[in-house]
Amino acid sequence: KPSDLFRPGRENSRGVNSADEGVLARLADTFAGAVELSWSATPLGAEVGTPMRETLNPADLSDVVGHYVESTPEAVNVALIAAAQAQPGWASRSPEERAVVLDRASVFLEERTPVLLGLIMREAGKTLANAVAEIREAVDFLRYYAEQVRTGFSNDAHRPLGVVACVSPWNFPLAIFMGQVSAALAAGNVVIAKPAEETPLIAAQAVAILVEAGAPEDAVRLLPGSGDVGARIVADHRVNGVMFTGSTEVARLIQRTLADRVNPDGSPVTLIAETGGQNAMIVDSSSLPEQVVQDVLTSAFDSAGQRCSALRILCVQEDVADRVVEMLKGAMEELSVGRPDRFATDIGPVISVEARDGINAHIERMRAKGCEVFQVALPASCADGFFVPPTLIEIGRVGDLKREVFGPVLHIRRYVREELDAVLAAIRETGYGLTFGLHTRIDGTIRHVTARTDAGNIYVNRNTVGAVVGSQPFGGHGLSGTGPKAGGPLYLVRLLAQAPSDFTA
Ligand code: NAP
Repeated sequence: KPSDLFRPGRENSRGVNSADEGVLARLADTFAGAVELSWSATPLGAEVGTPMRETLNPADLSDVVGHYVESTPEAVNVALIAAAQAQPGWASRSPEERAVVLDRASVFLEERTPVLLGLIMREAGKTLANAVAEIREAVDFLRYYAEQVRTGFSNDAHRPLGVVACVSPWNFPLAIFMGQVSAALAAGNVVIAKPAEETPLIAAQAVAILVEAGAPEDAVRLLPGSGDVGARIVADHRVNGVMFTGSTEVARLIQRTLADRVNPDGSPVTLIAETGGQNAMIVDSSSLPEQVVQDVLTSAFDSAGQRCSALRILCVQEDVADRVVEMLKGAMEELSVGRPDRFATDIGPVISVEARDGINAHIERMRAKGCEVFQVALPASCADGFFVPPTLIEIGRVGDLKREVFGPVLHIRRYVREELDAVLAAIRETGYGLTFGLHTRIDGTIRHVTARTDAGNIYVNRNTVGAVVGSQPFGGHGLSGTGPKAGGPLYLVRLLAQAPSDFTA
């Protein structure tokens, strides 16, 4: 597995694994090359003189990763005109031809992995292992949707929506971006893509690769910029569908905008929204503490907790709680928090000053309410960027948490056996339903708990992150999303103007 290959050697008392050293030395050379490069993202046809903006490495604010041009209203207009003109041509290509473009893009992604690793680590602050997984997932999306359209589609039976806006977050700046865009293209749509403000340079590379692989330049138009650019795009009557991944709050805004208009044929504008989570895990007294600790560490703190699937609330049965929490604290002390360009790093930065300050404000609020807080110390090297140490907060009630806290903060709720159903009800009452974890060795408990859980992805006796395209379609219920699940067999169908007559969900 790539993640094993690049498992960082640790610079602690256990020393660096010699097998890792060779791999890391080669990677370090390539990475140094990527650091020298200056990246950019500019909407096609941008007016000369439009000011450039910088993106910065969140682990080291002195590192300017590159520049992008904010898309003006005129740039949005130009892109929409071009996309509408390109649409019939792209839709008339056979499913096989569209699949070939996606397959070719997947090969280019693999070939450019070393340099893309450098870019992802710098612009998104990802660790080496996370950046490898990011590229791997983007490749998987391209190949999965290519295969779906190649084997299941015909242009006679499947009519695309038309122009689709893809609005994506910074936390999977390549994988989610490529997943949305490749699905829309596979189904015969053309794309207007609005990446997150923090990560336009990675998105620009994804678009360049798709164009090089054979997608017409006007069929996949990049519009970097702020949320205002996204709002302008989704409000435009020439957009026939919106694929959004991001916060529940922004999804609500988009839904309101779309409710005010219809397509020229009177049909509602399609919205696929994949949003946030308030993800919980139940750990009962029959579970294996060592396994629990390893899985909780990955679920809550990997990617600095900046995954929609990340664990936010650990519910531990009282009779094992002291032991599990004590072991967890010990394991947290072992994590290496710091700059991703030190390959030993397990936990990198959070994405922005707003993210850091918002997470810290939450921690302080909980402390002020009297909750017990445990944090590991940050090393001095973290002063150059936006870091939050892995944090545990003991809470009395699941209902005390009102919003998703998108960072390395894990809340602990201890429960006694008789409270299990009440705890499960409180988890359902959050309204979110993205991921859910369970650790138990009792089959009856697996049946009991999963029957009382409403989450898109349920994981038993393992961690709750890293869903695999194709085998673990990913998406939530309620406040966590509209479905269909990304990387699953029903996804492309939602990108059609009408489902084929033989389609059954
Ligand atoms: P976000 O603030 O909602 O932003 C997502 C995207 O929407 C960005 O491109 C953003 O632009 C744009 N945007 C902001 N306001 C908009 C508006 N009014 N109209 C149209 N677009 C607008 O989310 P984020 O902070 O980037 O990402 C973190 C969130 O995403 C978390 O809640 C996480 O749980 C969720 N997420 C969910 C999944 C899933 O599969 N369910 C996966 C990953 C992340 P700017 O960046 O310029 O503001």
